[in-house]
Amino acid sequence: MIIINVLHIGIDDTDSPDGMCTTYLASQIINKLNENDIELLDYPRLIRLNPFARFKTRGNGGVSFKIKNDGKANLARQIVLDEVENLSMFDCDNTNPGVIFYEGDITSEMEDYAFRAIHEFITIEEAEEFGKSAGCEIHKFKKGRGIIGSIAAISLPLEDHTFELLTYRASENYGTERLIDYESVYKMDEETYPDTFENIDYSENYIAIEPKTPCPVLYGIRSNNVDSLKKAKDIVKVEEPIADFCIFKTNQHTDMHIQKAENISSMKQFGCYEVCGTVKNRPKIIDGGHMFFYLGDDSGEIECGAYEPTKNFRHTVSHLRPGDFIRVYGGIGEQNTFNIEKFQVIKLNDVEYKNPICECGKRMTSAGKNKGFKCKKCGRKIKSSKKVPVKIQRSLKNFQFYETPVSARRHLSKPLCRMNL
Ligand code: ATP
Repeated sequence: MIIINVLHIGIDDTDSPDGMCTTYLASQIINKLNENDIELLDYPRLIRLNPFARFKTRGNGGVSFKIKNDGKANLARQIVLDEVENLSMFDCDNTNPGVIFYEGDITSEMEDYAFRAIHEFITIEEAEEFGKSAGCEIHKFKKGRGIIGSIAAISLPLEDHTFELLTYRASENYGTERLIDYESVYKMDEETYPDTFENIDYSENYIAIEPKTPCPVLYGIRSNNVDSLKKAKDIVKVEEPIADFCIFKTNQHTDMHIQKAENISSMKQFGCYEVCGTVKNRPKIIDGGHMFFYLGDDSGEIECGAYEPTKNFRHTVSHLRPGDFIRVYGGIGEQNTFNIEKFQVIKLNDVEYKNPICECGKRMTSAGKNKGFKCKKCGRKIKSSKKVPVKIQRSLKNFQFYETPVSARRHLSKPLCRMNL
């Protein structure tokens, strides 16, 4: 067996809301490495971390890749540091790049750290201390917050993974309207879904491959495999130059952010969980269009929300009724509300308790507290105040999953089309 000595390289926190994208910076570095005959071992990786991290620009993503740790490794190190120095958006207060070099095999402690960066908050000091103890070479620019994500980006094991093809614009077009032929995106989706996914939100006629920010990305296509990405790229037509493109291996759409909670009270704010519970009340919509209901179990209750951006998903949620037993997936945000990403119905409550029907066929009304029922039509009275169970038709189905639309989906959320249902 040939043992290859590997140099892992991690980069994070180079962009700002006004421009740049760490994936673009990585693709520039990869081009420079290739010009110097330095090839990557495997695809570069785009690793999404804690969706609630405070200083994220957009999707909290770090990038990593690995090369042979041979005579050219020092040249590679220099190229990486120079490009981060040249291209990072240093003017933005919140841009604090971090670069990590690590030689050798990823240890189980590093893997644990990476999962912590997805599930918890980590400080710069903690990351630095951990990185040093693990043997990482650490480079901080400004505050160097990016080292938190860079260490995680090289360390995360990727058993389940997807790929994303990112195409980049010519720099003179940054900030202008993207010239993507939408018809061709519909065709691409038709021909490559479900190998590719998250291309279009049909309910909103929303082209999800197109970013809405002034970043260098022209479009990004997500997929389970590289072949379908190549096919998809051939189908999508654009009326502006594609300056470059790069395929990343990623933890997007794997549900890696979701932890199985034992019960409702064990969940913490800013964590993402899967938990079962009983619907306590009819979902209610409030001003602003957000929809809420309570979910409970023996340990407690939590308010669950389907927010306005989830559009039609709120309509689905509105069909829940008290007594339904469901499994929800999502995260507990700023307001301490469980923000639902998807849910599975485990057991619908298909019984409703109603007033009895009179012999004459009319439903009876209450004759007063503990006074039984009376019939308004024929005047008949009964003493019992017990309501009777009536089976009701439900539009939701037992065992079925329901998810938020593409336009409102988190990078890490696993869509149903990836769930082997
Ligand atoms: P983009 O997706 O466009 O690359 P971004 O949303 O990834 O931008 P960054 O500029 O990378 O935003 O900023 C996110 C910052 O949060 C980075 O400095 C990263 O190191 C840090 N970070 C990542 N995970 C955690 C965590 N678990 N706890 C605290 N900080 C984190």
